[in-house]
Parts: sequence; C-alpha cells; structure tokens
Amino acid sequence: MPDRLPPKYSLGEWTLHAISDGLYRLDGGAMFGTIPKVLWDKVKPADERNRIDMCLSCLLATRKNQAILIEAGIGNKNPEKFEFIYGVDHISSIDEELARLGMKPSDINHVILSHLHFDHAGSLTILNDKNEPVPHFPNARHHVHAIEWETALNPNLRNRASYVTRDWMPVYEAGLMDIHGEEDEYEPVPGIRVDLVGGHTPGQCTIRIEPFESGKVTVFVGDVIPTGAHVPIPWIMGYDLEPMKQVEIKELLLSQWMDENALIVFPHETRYPWAYVGKDDKGNYFAKPLDEGWLEPLRRVQWPTLP
Ligand SMILES: [Zn+2]
Repeated sequence: MPDRLPPKYSLGEWTLHAISDGLYRLDGGAMFGTIPKVLWDKVKPADERNRIDMCLSCLLATRKNQAILIEAGIGNKNPEKFEFIYGVDHISSIDEELARLGMKPSDINHVILSHLHFDHAGSLTILNDKNEPVPHFPNARHHVHAIEWETALNPNLRNRASYVTRDWMPVYEAGLMDIHGEEDEYEPVPGIRVDLVGGHTPGQCTIRIEPFESGKVTVFVGDVIPTGAHVPIPWIMGYDLEPMKQVEIKELLLSQWMDENALIVFPHETRYPWAYVGKDDKGNYFAKPLDEGWLEPLRRVQWPTLP
C-alpha cells in the first residue's frame, strides 16, 4: 500500500481514524444471503472462487490522553491454510497504521469489540518468541458483552468456525477483559456507549461515540452492516444467526442514523471506511460515502489458484 495517513474525522473532542488490518475474502453468496448474484455481483464483483474482497477495518478514537481502539481485525498469527482459505492479504496492519500516526500498541487504553468473530478479534493477541498467543494491547482494558462472551465460549456446530479461542482467551487470562452483562448498553469510557443489538450474533453490539459538546455522532456498526452494499434493509448475510431480528434492527437503526446524520463506520467495506445514510424516493436506504478510494489499489498480488 502506498504510504498514506489513515482517513481522519473530527468529532468534537475526539479525533477518529479509520485503521485497516488488511484484506480478506469471503464467499459472496454467504455475504448476501438470499440476494441473487446477478444483483450483488454488480456492486461487489466476485473472484473465480466466488469470493468478494473485504476490508478488516477498525476505528481509532483519540482525545487528550486516551486512545481507544474499536475492533481488532484478523491479526497475523493464523496458519497458512487459514490465510489461504480466507484470502488474507496483509496490505496493511493495525501496527503499521498506528505507526503512521506515531503510536504503538502499548499506547492503547481501551479495546472495544462489536463481537468476537475471528475477523474482528484476531489481532487481540500476537505470538511471542515461544509461539504462544499473548495480548497485543497489554495496557488496554478490553470490553465485550457477556452474551457474546458466552456465545464464543459455547459455540454451536453452525458458528464454531467463527470463534478462535486463542484470539481472546489469553486476554481474559491476563486479567485484561471486562465482560459487561448487567444491561443491554454499557459505557466503557465516558462518551462511548456500547449497545447490544443481536441479529448477526446474539451478542452483537454497535459502538456509539457522542462528544460532550457537539451535535455530531459516529457509530461503528459492526456486522449489523458489514459493507456499504449492506445498507439496503433486505441485503443481509447468510451468516446472520437471527435473520429476522437483523432486518428489524436495521430498519430501526438506519432510520435513527439518518435522522441524526450519524457517520457510520463499516467493519468490512473496501471502497470507503465510513458514510452517512441516505434514502431514495422509493424509501430505500443507501450509503453516502466519505473518503472514497481509501484502499485502492486493493491487492498487491493476484490471489493464487487453489492447488
Ligand atoms: Zn461477524
């Protein structure tokens, strides 16, 4: 990737940066559920294996002495076969992005997670000299909702492949994990609210940043809306565990985000990191992006064919 600073957005006392932990690929059919390929292929063209390019986006929020990382990408400790299957391309990493801003992982005070799937929690740990996973952000409190934590600890046959214990268990064992279970919302840091919404996973959360003195709002939407192509309400993933709940949540939240002119931040969009929400005359929601062309050109190398 050409050297460049991560896209920046000013939100009251906060400075936000869109951070990329690289790219990966998922099956386009799985990403768009019941939507026919003739429709989604125009927006997200598939490769010869029917996979679409996805970004591993995180949001860095800083103010005074605080640095908060929302989401933690896929990391660099996964086996070669895993990287092959998911087409992981390390065009960028959290460490490189932090370095571009003059920061390092030990500067992070809080890590907030929408959920614990491997493409959101992978970089919570790194391998040490003995090849053991250890916390990547040793000075940070890590925040997750209790329902997501329980789901990750007790996966079923359908979602088992999405949870990788060594992504997050070493963080828990080091005493750095705060599991929030009393309410459907919690405030890990004043001005940042985490809302339990469910849908994609029972413990899926959105993360809302509302400055003290400014009418502006930014929401990291997690896998409620993985990419800009998933803004239209019926465009949901086959991966979603509670599909009808997902549809209902989207309807409710999109209308709210449009009314308050919130900047929404996507976890997996490659074309742009964030957008406002618009609605056309037929009542369909769409993304009004900022910082288009963010990661282009995307891949450094063409993905090799399977042996
Ligand atoms: Zn997910």
